[in-house]
Amino acid sequence: MFSRHDDDDHDDDDHFHDQCGVFGVWGSDEAANHAYLGLHALQHRGQEAAGIVSSDGVQLLVHRGLGLVQDVFSASTLERLPGDRAIGHVRYSTAGGSHIKNAQPIAIDYAHGSIAVAHNGNLTNADEIRRRLEAAGSIFQTTSDTEVVVHLIARSTERSTVDRVADALRQTKGAYSLLVLTPQELIAVRDPWGFRPLSLGRLKGAFVFASEPVAFELVAAEYIRDIEPGEMVVIDKHGLTSLRPFERQEPKMCIFEYVYFARPDATLGGTNVYESRKMMGRALAREAYVEADVVIPVPDSGVPAALGYAQEAGLPFELGLVRSHYVGRTFIEPQSSIRHFGVRLKLSPNRALIQGKRVVVIDDSIVRGTTSRKIVKMLRDAGARAVHLRISSPPTRWPCFYGIDTPSRSELIASSHSIEEIAKYVTADSLGYLSVEALHASVGNSGSTGYCNACFTGEYPVAFEKPSQRRQLALVM
Ligand code: SF4
Repeated sequence: MFSRHDDDDHDDDDHFHDQCGVFGVWGSDEAANHAYLGLHALQHRGQEAAGIVSSDGVQLLVHRGLGLVQDVFSASTLERLPGDRAIGHVRYSTAGGSHIKNAQPIAIDYAHGSIAVAHNGNLTNADEIRRRLEAAGSIFQTTSDTEVVVHLIARSTERSTVDRVADALRQTKGAYSLLVLTPQELIAVRDPWGFRPLSLGRLKGAFVFASEPVAFELVAAEYIRDIEPGEMVVIDKHGLTSLRPFERQEPKMCIFEYVYFARPDATLGGTNVYESRKMMGRALAREAYVEADVVIPVPDSGVPAALGYAQEAGLPFELGLVRSHYVGRTFIEPQSSIRHFGVRLKLSPNRALIQGKRVVVIDDSIVRGTTSRKIVKMLRDAGARAVHLRISSPPTRWPCFYGIDTPSRSELIASSHSIEEIAKYVTADSLGYLSVEALHASVGNSGSTGYCNACFTGEYPVAFEKPSQRRQLALVM
């Protein structure tokens, strides 16, 4: 069972990954600086590439690069992005791979002027549209879904930018929270299912948009409201207009945002992420209680759920695993005899809290099981008498097609193994998961409507085409 991963040390972050974060600002004297700070606050949503496009009302100015926001931008690059309006993007590569060509926002000149697009999500019919456009002579520079949207906008015969964007998006299916910038307007739009979040805020006289309202805090902006599923907000010299250009669908916001992706201080859809994670922990204690001496989280994402579990179970909560916050990419590896090096770099056991104890260790999810196995071993090596693993979400059995980086179904350990088998693989004394019903209840949702839970249930709200192996020109620099 999964033996090929036993010695695999590169997979030390065994999580689903959000693909992107977006930030936009209109009407600020420091638009590029605000976009930079907004992206910094959204860095957890993507660490592979970042970009900002600004406008002075005449032209678009672009800077993009591979790496963290702080590495891609310097004071001098931000100075070269003038104007009172900007959109920005942080990217974790899924559709399209890690390549500078796929960094966003994508900016082009076309028959109607200049336009830039920043996209969070995945289109489920992107390949089908791409094939159709290529057959009609379109040439693609990137492998990202976003370029498909840009082509559809450019080919639209509608008269205004707003109508061209709506026309383009009506041909797509799937997940998008999009920001579109031209020298004359900023458009923010969320797909009719509302898979990925997008919020509107106010910064003195300026409007701001962000994947999560936590980005507003850093620029001292005030949260106004979420962009509704299927809503298109247009800001231009006349002010703000809200449009509903799409057929209505039953909302399907990604419930995994609450489990792991969003920052704990975010409030999405009116629900505070930290509070919902604590509720997941409380429910987990009721559904999967076990006799133990101490509850410890896998930091940082497991902390709120572990607090909730400990409070509900009446057990002490301790930080038995300490996370190093200074881990970047490690280029120097020790001799191969040091096992599980990657996990050791990130996590360290606090022996004094673990030795001789029956430990309940709380994590938010298990994807392949590789990291859980290493953590359980680390706790045993630190002297734990028993290690009970509790997961504050249901088993992740299905991949995501709506903008989250997930491995194939065959790599998801819960897709082919029972809970007992997974417990055996991760070498835990016992393993317990949260039920789907309790997960929904924890985000204040009594049924399954309103949220996508497809990675737990396989009930996909929007049909998808199996992703193809997209062609990619190699760029040698
Ligand atoms: Fe979120 Fe899972 Fe649905 Fe993807 S499949 S949108 S990760 S709930």
